[in-house]
Amino acid sequence: MTTRVFGRPTSARGCACCIPTLGRRGMLGLAASAFLAPMARAEDGTAYDSMLLTCIDPRFVAPVNAWMGTRGLTGKFSQFAIAGGPLGVVAPAFAAWHTAFWENLDASIHLHKITRVIAVSHRDCGAAEIAYGAAAIATPEAETALHRRVYAEFKTELAQRQPAIRVEGGLMALDGSMEMFA
Ligand SMILES: [Zn+2]
Repeated sequence: MTTRVFGRPTSARGCACCIPTLGRRGMLGLAASAFLAPMARAEDGTAYDSMLLTCIDPRFVAPVNAWMGTRGLTGKFSQFAIAGGPLGVVAPAFAAWHTAFWENLDASIHLHKITRVIAVSHRDCGAAEIAYGAAAIATPEAETALHRRVYAEFKTELAQRQPAIRVEGGLMALDGSMEMFA
């Protein structure tokens, strides 16, 4: 019988935060405490800088990571990708997704000692159109206003849930340039 965890054989090597011990410990530890035990085991004292919150759009995967690199953050951040980025975390249309982000942020704070969230939205975002309608992003001005409002909502909720965590964010254009929000 092949037992799978998160769709992978338990013997497979996983991400650095929670999966690798499964191969040695098997399912028993996971079943006993699927979330808390890996968090305790994975602490190695390394303090990372940030969690990057960004959209799943393939056009922006490389540019967003390159932008993080220009800021000297390569290898220093965890990453949560969800359609819309911060929009996916606050838009009522995507309510079913929100908890996943906040729980992953909790995990990254505990595991990786991050102290900041960097929330990146982007122009021509399909998730923005799904959640708020085509008119909301019909002009660059409307699009900027929408993402600025979304960022403000995200910032407010983050301050309530994780007051010690700093936040910054912006809107990336199709050429990879970034407009930061206040
Ligand atoms: Zn998008």
